[in-house]
Amino acid sequence: MIMSAESVRPEPVEGPSFSSAGSEGKKQPFDRPGANGLRGKLTANAPLAPLVWFKSGGAAEWLFEPKDLADLQGFLADLDPEVPVMALGLGSNMIVRDGGVPGVVVRLGKAFAKVTAVDPVTLDCGGGASGILVSSTARDSGVAGLEFLRSIPGTVGGFVRMNGGAYGGEVKDILVDCDVVLRSGELKTLPVADLGYTYRHSALPEGAIVVAARFRGRPGEAADIQAEMDRIGASREASQPLRSKTGGSTFKNPDGHRAWELVDKAGCRGFALGGAQVSEKHTNFLINTGNATSTDIEALGEEVRRRVRESQGVELEWEIQRVGKP
Ligand SMILES: Cc1cc2nc3c(=O)[nH]c(=O)nc-3n(C[C@H](O)[C@H](O)[C@H](O)COP(=O)(O)OP(=O)(O)OC[C@H]3O[C@@H](n4cnc5c(N)ncnc54)[C@H](O)[C@@H]3O)c2cc1C
Repeated sequence: MIMSAESVRPEPVEGPSFSSAGSEGKKQPFDRPGANGLRGKLTANAPLAPLVWFKSGGAAEWLFEPKDLADLQGFLADLDPEVPVMALGLGSNMIVRDGGVPGVVVRLGKAFAKVTAVDPVTLDCGGGASGILVSSTARDSGVAGLEFLRSIPGTVGGFVRMNGGAYGGEVKDILVDCDVVLRSGELKTLPVADLGYTYRHSALPEGAIVVAARFRGRPGEAADIQAEMDRIGASREASQPLRSKTGGSTFKNPDGHRAWELVDKAGCRGFALGGAQVSEKHTNFLINTGNATSTDIEALGEEVRRRVRESQGVELEWEIQRVGKP
């Protein structure tokens, strides 16, 4: 019998009962199982495909959805330091490989999704808040300069990690500082200068989870801000496959080049491999046309890189994060 991912999704293991649960024969990820009295949701062998834009890939060995900040800190402090930890936002820039992700994947929920104005030009944003919520709160608070976040389908944590940018704006230009929970469980505030930002890259410490960020804009009129958001939204709609299973820009723009042009010139527009295809609409987007595996998607990306290298001598670098085991 073929079972869908949904039908085999295990029940979440909550709180201290975790110590006696866990999957058969699996090493518990705690030094002291259950000792910290978890209040969030911990799920063993949790399918990640439903949680990422590509809708492909394997399961997380453990998926942890903390109840609040203290819960996340306690969890990480008690976690065996050998266990790898990775944050997941909306999975809009990620290929989860088919063999799944070892260790713990942390996904921030409602407690981390608030956005509030703290002064006339600054917003305090939870790490799990969406770009749409940040930009609409900025509009309602008369803060201009954050409109570009409206068009990036991710969370604040993902924006901070990836230095997300569009339409002339970039996170490094609006970020004041961010709060991160380090792999040890320690809460730390990192100013923008400590994040080593370059194009679509930050030096965020390995395993650190961004739980909040302060974004600063400039005073603006709500109507003008809304008009700019509408302009950006319409431009996106016209140029990108927003309703497809995709992962955003596949490759970084190499110095002096635009990735989509290189891919197009290599003759890859519409090129397909298994269930994966280079978008006809925007050649720097790969799409899952239905039943692509992550192996199909990654192999297609590698083939595109090869063709661009051979035809134009330029090495494309992946922008999409590829995580887990093949
Ligand atoms: C249709 C479409 C259009 C896009 N357009 C743009 C664009 O114009 N500009 C642009 O920059 N990007 C774009 N993207 C890519 C993507 O939206 C951004 O990279 C976004 O920042 C990813 O956010 P996320 O929360 O979904 O992160 P994910 O995809 O879930 O993760 C991306 C990386 O961020 C890390 N991460 C996520 N949350 C946290 C956290 N709380 N703490 C620490 N690390 C974290 C992950 O571990 C991973 O390394 C687009 C994607 C799509 C699907």
